[in-house]
Amino acid sequence: MQGYFDYNATTPLHPAARDAWLIASERHWHNASSLYREAATVKHLLDTARERLGEMLGSEPERIVFTSGATESNNAVVHLFAAKEGAVLSSSVEHPSLRTPLQRTLDHRVRFIRACSDTSLDREHFHQQVTEHNPVLVTIMAANNESGTLHPWQEAAKYCKERGVPFHCDASQWIGKMPAQALGQCDYVTGSGHKFGGPKGVGFLVMRDEQEALGFINGGPQEEGRRAGTENYPAIEAMITALEAVTQDLEITTAHQLKYRDAFAKNICREIAGVRLIGGDVARLWNTIMLVLPDHDNRKWLARLSQSGFAISTGSACSAGRDGSSIVLQALGASAEEMQRVIRISSGWETSESDWLALEIALLQVSKSFALKE
Ligand code: PLP
Repeated sequence: MQGYFDYNATTPLHPAARDAWLIASERHWHNASSLYREAATVKHLLDTARERLGEMLGSEPERIVFTSGATESNNAVVHLFAAKEGAVLSSSVEHPSLRTPLQRTLDHRVRFIRACSDTSLDREHFHQQVTEHNPVLVTIMAANNESGTLHPWQEAAKYCKERGVPFHCDASQWIGKMPAQALGQCDYVTGSGHKFGGPKGVGFLVMRDEQEALGFINGGPQEEGRRAGTENYPAIEAMITALEAVTQDLEITTAHQLKYRDAFAKNICREIAGVRLIGGDVARLWNTIMLVLPDHDNRKWLARLSQSGFAISTGSACSAGRDGSSIVLQALGASAEEMQRVIRISSGWETSESDWLALEIALLQVSKSFALKE
């Protein structure tokens, strides 16, 4: 997809996912809960899809509940712990789909773990907070949607397990881009189909045990009584097919994409005076660059790039278009003015070196056009 650099917001449907969706919709559209042969086939295909996903995540398939996406999965986790007394620890850079329900539902029981100035999780603060508060839940995302910074979720999951503290990981940006096999070690894992080439409106939650229900979507006995509502088998099939497709050559993709991305960042930082790369010194997703530009409102940059055929964003898609505020920059204590100058560039599996070069040229042209007007 030439010119599209907003993969962290959403991805185009993978061709393999489209084919899977069409076949499932044409042949297996029946209700999995009905009692005739065709319905039993859909039920069987759903179970197989769950097994394939379980295999990729290193989780027992029975722990997986299909949902409408990461927002529902994150809300479900908050809901599960709302009635339990005690503190909940969360990183300070979680997506609003987790942060907002945490604050609305648990309010003063939520404690935030600090981010370091390089955007990584402050490990010392994390250890200290777990010891001090003995929380009922710890929730730390795997990879940040704005900066791409990777968080030490494996280490955190192990630390929590040793202390008997349930651990949730929002892995929406990690899954499909990074090896996912160890995620099953977490008690709860959130994933979203449209972040890795699947359709929108479908995702999953890996749960701690095989009987636990989401609790806030009640009705029919679907998903073994754990989440009511007719299963969207075509979307589930397409999501899992997409994940299988994008993770097939992940090592090669990672090596190529890192090379293109880092060359782009180096050139931009050299050519545009005063640009700042956020999280440049820490491990990040291979596809993400968060930049603070030297001047002009980020929406002006976006509009000019859009005119040239390039789609990028201001931080998170969830805040873009409103006040453009960045949760990551907020956590780092940036000023409101600085937050108006942030942009996020996020590539995809098929982004080529020439796509990156074209974006570089376009960004430099926009920068020059601003300079000429001054
Ligand atoms: N969590 C993270 C880290 C995300 O990046 C997003 C989407 O931007 C979400 C949750 C919400 O995902 P969904 O659109 O599937 O509800």
